[in-house]
Amino acid sequence: LPWTEDVSQLMAQRLSPWITQTLRRLGRRAEEMSLKAYVVGGFVRDLLLGKENQDLDIVIEGDALAFIKSWETDGCKVAVHERYKTGTIVFPGDKKVDVATARREFYEYPVALPKVAGDSLKHDLYRRDFTVNSMAISINRTSWGTLIDYFGGRRDLQSRQLRVLHNLSFVEDPTRVLRGLRLKQRLGFEFEDNTFRLIKSAVKGGLLGLLSGTRVKNELKLIFMEEKVYPIVLEMVRLNIFEALFSGIKVDRNCIRIVRRLSFFLRRLRYDLPDIEEDVWLAFLAAVIFSSADWVQHATLDKLHLSKSNREIVEKALDDLGTAENAIGGKGMRSYEEIYLFLRDAPYVTALFWAAATQQWRVRRRILLYLTRLHRVNPILMGRDLVELGYPKGPLIGKILEELLLARLRGEVETREDEIKWVKSNYPLYVLKKG
Ligand code: ATP
Repeated sequence: LPWTEDVSQLMAQRLSPWITQTLRRLGRRAEEMSLKAYVVGGFVRDLLLGKENQDLDIVIEGDALAFIKSWETDGCKVAVHERYKTGTIVFPGDKKVDVATARREFYEYPVALPKVAGDSLKHDLYRRDFTVNSMAISINRTSWGTLIDYFGGRRDLQSRQLRVLHNLSFVEDPTRVLRGLRLKQRLGFEFEDNTFRLIKSAVKGGLLGLLSGTRVKNELKLIFMEEKVYPIVLEMVRLNIFEALFSGIKVDRNCIRIVRRLSFFLRRLRYDLPDIEEDVWLAFLAAVIFSSADWVQHATLDKLHLSKSNREIVEKALDDLGTAENAIGGKGMRSYEEIYLFLRDAPYVTALFWAAATQQWRVRRRILLYLTRLHRVNPILMGRDLVELGYPKGPLIGKILEELLLARLRGEVETREDEIKWVKSNYPLYVLKKG
């Protein structure tokens, strides 16, 4: 029998109104359909830890597909995955809830995708990665707020440990090693001794090498998008995880130094650079393979099946570091204009990577100047201001604005009036009219 406990008070205190209301609605519907519904996994863990988590994972004992489809008539969008008996309900306001059928999974052979074969909450929870993620809370009306803990998740949360549910956990799914490293850092937990031993033998036994490139890519991406990447990478290096994932890879001190610098720069820049979030992980990937032989770099990128544009970002980062150092390095002065003109052709992550990877402090400083300030320099005047001044609509306007931006980088204009004066004297209207 599981350990149970009433956590409805805690839910009342800690959950946002939307979450509470949604869980209640889901529970009521389950009750009407004579199903049992639970919220499970990371959400429960974070509730008990007092951390916010908006990702609702619902498990249904019974037919989750019918349950999911029943929401279609309530103004929700739904999507189902018939084969896995899972799906998503999207509530108005784009709030997603994942719903799954409580299931037992049989792995035909290690690292295959799971096959679904029906029934029961306990089995569903047993196939999860760590005990702290294996708890459920009932959301049916009659048992609202009952925490269900079969495997000692509560105890491990209290002692801040990550523990697998059984000794074959990493054999069943080696990505759990990577998930574990990520979660450990995120939560500030430790691995329980036996779990740590199992990780080491999974690595030694070559299990990580069996994973498909796509699964490795997904997990690496999640790691590299964490807030604190550096300590995770350090631990991965210590445990020889990269060697286990990619044959021939050499993650040396130089790579680690680049990762540390990237982490450090990102703490400051992450929110300044538009659209960088999606690509940040590529800079870390480039850092990790930086010191490996060319063929290893290529084999690693092949294995990961990067999209064409992602691959180009990583390759440009690695291949053009020297070009960047030549273009904006050296003792002599470099004008803002020069720095800008070179770096604007590179994606922000690529420039960020160069700043972290270069050994030349001047190059680093100039790139950081670009990433913090120069990249967002713009003229005050806009296209329609130029039209008002009498310039014809068309490509000329773009050209003037571009030149004006460079003039600004050279320090030739400051105010709006300066800009108007600059435009009038560099692009005199009477010349245009005549020409
Ligand atoms: P969090 O645990 O913070 O939700 P996450 O966003 O990575 O992290 P999901 O990927 O949404 O979690 O997974 C939800 C739950 O499914 C997890 O709490 C975990 O218990 C379980 N889970 C996910 N991947 C695996 C896996 N490979 N093996 C076992 N259980 C897994």
